[in-house]
Amino acid sequence: MSATETHAFQTEVNQLLKLMIHALYSNKEIFVRELVSNASDALDKLRFEAVSNDALTEGEEELAIQLEFNKEARTITISDNGIGMTRDEVIANIGTIANSGTKKFLESMTGDQAKDSHLIGQFGVGFYSSFIVSDEVELITRKAGTAVSEGTKWVSKGEGEFTLENVEKASKGTVITLHLKEDMDEFLSEHRLKGIVTTYSDHINFPIKMEKSEWDEEAKESKATGEFEQVNKATAIWTQPKSELSDEDYTNFYQTISHDFNEPLAHIHNKVEGTLEYTSLLYIPKNAPFDLYDRERRYGLKLYVKRVFIMDDAEHLMPTYLRFVRGVIDSADLPLNVSREILQSNKVVDKIRSASVKRVLDQLAKFAKADDQEAYNTFWDQFGQVMKEGVVEDFANKDKIAKLLRFASTHDDASKAQRISLESYVDRMQEGQEAIYYIVADTHAAAKGSPHLEMFRKKGIEVLLMSDRIDEWLVSHLTEFEGKQLKSITSADLKEFEEEADKDLSDDEKQAREALTEKVKKAIEDKVSDVRITHRLTDSPACVVSAEGDMSAHMARLMEQMGQ
Ligand code: ADP
Ligand code: MG
Repeated sequence: MSATETHAFQTEVNQLLKLMIHALYSNKEIFVRELVSNASDALDKLRFEAVSNDALTEGEEELAIQLEFNKEARTITISDNGIGMTRDEVIANIGTIANSGTKKFLESMTGDQAKDSHLIGQFGVGFYSSFIVSDEVELITRKAGTAVSEGTKWVSKGEGEFTLENVEKASKGTVITLHLKEDMDEFLSEHRLKGIVTTYSDHINFPIKMEKSEWDEEAKESKATGEFEQVNKATAIWTQPKSELSDEDYTNFYQTISHDFNEPLAHIHNKVEGTLEYTSLLYIPKNAPFDLYDRERRYGLKLYVKRVFIMDDAEHLMPTYLRFVRGVIDSADLPLNVSREILQSNKVVDKIRSASVKRVLDQLAKFAKADDQEAYNTFWDQFGQVMKEGVVEDFANKDKIAKLLRFASTHDDASKAQRISLESYVDRMQEGQEAIYYIVADTHAAAKGSPHLEMFRKKGIEVLLMSDRIDEWLVSHLTEFEGKQLKSITSADLKEFEEEADKDLSDDEKQAREALTEKVKKAIEDKVSDVRITHRLTDSPACVVSAEGDMSAHMARLMEQMGQ
């Protein structure tokens, strides 16, 4: 049964490999992080499944990762005694791209090395990163709980195909051996590998072990001792007191779980004790992930129960509009066998979720109020559009979110940047001005060039200039702020301006106007429902407005585009 079978990679894998080797060349050491993170995932899965089926541990007490190198053979080996894979799982997980986001990812590649490596990092194409440094990779694995004879050996040069062979493997888990490329000798060093582990994987929840070496005075070189020692901290970072953690520790852990190369914008670490007991470590990233709008996006919050990993991307722990938040929630009150279905309607989860949302919004409010607006501006430019969804999605926090919104406005319309808060708009409102005025258009240029603005400019009344796709939807749900109505300047319902100007007209003038409107009305009768004299325009002769209660012009156009 040891016949070797050859399989072809899925086309996308080939494409991905080529792009990745090129794009990630300057970050090539991340292969260690990726393989260690896979080993850690495999150990997490084993620990989780062994809770209900003790036999899966196969009598091994300690779950650990080993990292070794061999100077003569020029190989690096990473092994774990985790869940392992069956033959079918190897085929499904390695050699194909099971994730439907991958095509999208490939499409989003730009050719710009810095940007692409950032994207790849976020996507976490993990295992394939081993081909950045290797010209051949060998993986031997056996699923926990299966017979010793059911091991699988996978070998590939990363060039279109891989081979599969049935082998014996005494212990469960996975061993990956990288045959390094010619110029990759830098990685055949204890010092270098240890350094990478501490940089990227210090807070992996399991021990990472490396062989100790000792200086041999006679041979004048260091020699392996055959003894292994732990080289990472292996502490669940969130269980440690804040006072013992540095910004570096927090960043390091963020990068491990988010696959993002950047530092996070903020971390929020809380330990809650009392009726509910849980720890949360939440991160707000600096950059939006490329799949922010992808329904099948991955990553999010990781759920642990008493330090046992339960699931990734636990979407019930955060509302959709805060889907960019990364981190860990570790609860002492949920059962270990909790499922996604249970999470959906669970009181403990609801409480953790609303407290976590509050913490994120409070942190954002802090940035929003800070003297230095840089952090908030960065945040808003990346995630502002998603925050606008929050006004609709999160009714309970609507007021808090409204304060976080930023818009472009006529206060500074040279800039497209959204920097004006509703609070600052209200502070600048003129005497007697009762509403917050806005216009929604397809582009910023169209908004700021609209004839509807003429009168407002003349009177010095500020108007919010909206041109994000979501804005029309936003204003249909956000109808007031601190008791002030939000009003579109393209709607006909702006009597406050008309009546004031009409007061001083003589009877003759009024008659002349009526005659004029009658004439115009007749001429375009079939196209409009009414014609009125307006004081809203100063330079343009006429404009079209929507009647009270009607859709605004922009919404009408959107509907038309959608074929309604
Ligand atoms: P990701 O980790 O994001 O799923 P990877 O390319 O890193 O993507 O890994 C692909 C898949 O291969 C993993 O999801 C897992 O199913 C499997 N895998 C990789 N390494 C291991 C391992 N050491 N033990 C068990 N399964 C593994
Ligand atoms: Mg991975």
